[in-house]
Amino acid sequence: MIENNAEPNIAKDWMIKRGVKLEEIAELVMLLQKPYHDDLSLERCLHNIDRVISKREVQNAILTGIQLDILAEKGLLEQPLQEFIKTDESLYGVDEILAFSIVNVYGSIGFTNFGYIDKIKPGVLNRLNNKETGEVHTFLDDIVGAIAAAASSRLAHRYEETE
Ligand code: MG
Repeated sequence: MIENNAEPNIAKDWMIKRGVKLEEIAELVMLLQKPYHDDLSLERCLHNIDRVISKREVQNAILTGIQLDILAEKGLLEQPLQEFIKTDESLYGVDEILAFSIVNVYGSIGFTNFGYIDKIKPGVLNRLNNKETGEVHTFLDDIVGAIAAAASSRLAHRYEETE
């Protein structure tokens, strides 16, 4: 898989513009991995997030998801998609499927992590799920969870290699 460092990371900029701080994703990684690694630092979590979002397939998923969130927020999608995404219709499911393409990047242990944080929705995920703001984050909440899950998997693999 190609890690493209040379180009500016527009996907990362979009995520930040939509109100997600990388430190908040790092806190999710911390939550997932701290039980296994006592010495884990926030910097190490941030580094792994950085590696995950430097991958082109991850950037493509971020750009696609955020674009659909923005269009739904502005009411610019055709029906029935407009309503599905605007209301975060639970049977829609394509938001999760798009997020799986991120989780998948570092192998299958990411899926367990993704399922876990999607269920308890800590920190930033709880905020993105607040339906009373008028903002639409139907895709972004799954994307953020997926980045945290993938970064956790990457981090776990690296620990295994160095121990
Ligand atoms: Mg969602």
